[in-house]
Amino acid sequence: MASIAFAAVCQTRHNIVRHCSVFHFVPTVNHKRTRERSCSTHAICQATKGSPGLADIGGVGLLGSLTLPASGDKDTHTTMSVFQTIKEVNVTCLRNASVNIVFFALKSKEELLVVVGAGAAGVYGAIHAKTVAPHLTVVVIEKGKPLSKVKVSGGGRCNVTNGHCVDNMILAENYPRGHKELKGSFFNMHGPVDTMSWFASHGVELKTEDDGRVFPVSDSSSSIIDCLMSEVKQRGVSLQTKKSVSAVSILYSGKFLLEVEQLPSHHAERVEADYLLIASGSNRQGYTLASQLGHSIVDPVPSLFTFKIEDLHLRELSGVTFPKVKVRLKLDSVQKNIPHLTQVGPMLVTHWGLSGPVILRLSAWGARLLFSSSYKGRLFVDFVPDLHVENLKSILSRHKHQYAKQKVLNSCPPEFGISKRFWSYVLERQGLSGDTLWASISNNSLMSIGSLLKDCIFEVTGKGQFKDEFVTAGGVPLSEISLNTMESKICPRLFFAGEILNVDGVTGGFNFQNAWSGGFIAGTTIGGLALCSSYPSSK
Ligand SMILES: Cc1cc2nc3c(=O)[nH]c(=O)nc-3n(C[C@H](O)[C@H](O)[C@H](O)COP(=O)(O)OP(=O)(O)OC[C@H]3O[C@@H](n4cnc5c(N)ncnc54)[C@H](O)[C@@H]3O)c2cc1C
Repeated sequence: MASIAFAAVCQTRHNIVRHCSVFHFVPTVNHKRTRERSCSTHAICQATKGSPGLADIGGVGLLGSLTLPASGDKDTHTTMSVFQTIKEVNVTCLRNASVNIVFFALKSKEELLVVVGAGAAGVYGAIHAKTVAPHLTVVVIEKGKPLSKVKVSGGGRCNVTNGHCVDNMILAENYPRGHKELKGSFFNMHGPVDTMSWFASHGVELKTEDDGRVFPVSDSSSSIIDCLMSEVKQRGVSLQTKKSVSAVSILYSGKFLLEVEQLPSHHAERVEADYLLIASGSNRQGYTLASQLGHSIVDPVPSLFTFKIEDLHLRELSGVTFPKVKVRLKLDSVQKNIPHLTQVGPMLVTHWGLSGPVILRLSAWGARLLFSSSYKGRLFVDFVPDLHVENLKSILSRHKHQYAKQKVLNSCPPEFGISKRFWSYVLERQGLSGDTLWASISNNSLMSIGSLLKDCIFEVTGKGQFKDEFVTAGGVPLSEISLNTMESKICPRLFFAGEILNVDGVTGGFNFQNAWSGGFIAGTTIGGLALCSSYPSSK
């Protein structure tokens, strides 16, 4: 016998079963190492993580693999003390007949989970709810095409997650909205490693690129979509497309009453649901539904965009990349120093202005401030961040003496590591002809070249688009939900996951990770509640 898992349910004062505890016991070790966790399916996940034979979490899957020691087994005594513990906390104990009891119980009460939106968060959440509670009816309602953003994501390759952030504290730093709150349980419950294992164990081979971005080996988002859709089918999730959830209210019974419109006719039907997971992304209708259930909405504004720069000469550099620059954004409306408005990383010149990871990160951290500044500001770029200004000046003076007879355009100090095209731009901005000899450049001009390389100012005149990814900052505030269950603090049995929340990440797979983590936690919590509420109360 490799391992034993016991499930137990306990009741609250309101006669609603809200908690599910799992006692996981490995007989080869001392019973003191039996792990006990409380609170819904998180316990199930944690307790079964890494257990041979219990890899796939889920209520019936888990209980189905429950094995009791044969009579006379040398571990029986230890096992019994675990039973004892369960009795002491006064919960219903699933003894030898537990599997039968649970199956009986599951059939005794039918509940419905409605998921609004078949994006990454909604589909992943639905699959996990059904995995934990196969008896639960799960209906996903989608107004457009399922997983449409997954399809186009990462330029059609789908940057599933980020493989470089194994430390969850560092991982959370990649979320301009959410970096404080996500340092808690959120990624511990389902982080990038869990996402990667889930896809790998469901047949999607993944690869991690040098910068940490994780893609399917096929380099096609279809691999992710096919995997998720096959799970939806296999688990028996009902996916209803061309339907939109247009309104919601709460019935006296506590159930949700949803108005579901058939598209394009707008013929409406009413659906009563026991659990509601809103995973509608940045769609305004989703915000309306959340408001109808008592939630506030942080104003949505765009994040992850490029900067428009009015500079005709810069446009001529379109396509030039800089592996490492330091950029600082200054906005008239912001007087204090905001550390996140300075970023270091690769930059790219585009036809319209500036892009690349460093600019996208800046756009994300400055999303709200840029919005209120109408996307106007000044960008200070240090093109040689690893060189101190004094060092830079002495390199220029040395170069002047060493290459006195050379034309300035033909001889750029190699220590700067910049391209000839950009060197030509620098000289042009200084009003120097490329044909000037180094010997005839004044010391003042040398100082100005140095200043330009260290602190080059660009006027940001607007917001461009980043075709590979964009997200919305804003949505349901994290203070209104419990991040270890994704349940609303305002309305019981209401859950949120994905971009509808006031969470957004920088580029690199962080936005999908938010959707997978939130979907997983919400789905397994709902599954756990459904499992518990199906179980008859103990007398
Ligand atoms: C072009 C592009 C590329 C991207 N690439 C990446 C990437 O490579 N890596 C990464 O991490 N992130 C990427 N992102 C961001 C990522 O796609 C989102 O963060 C993620 O899709 C959010 O998932 P979600 O399930 O919360 O929302 P969504 O994917 O937006 O799904 C919400 C779904 O709900 C449906 N819906 C909304 N309201 C209703 C309603 N009332 N009734 C019924 N259905 C409704 C919508 O039609 C939609 O299908 C990209 C985004 C874009 C736009």
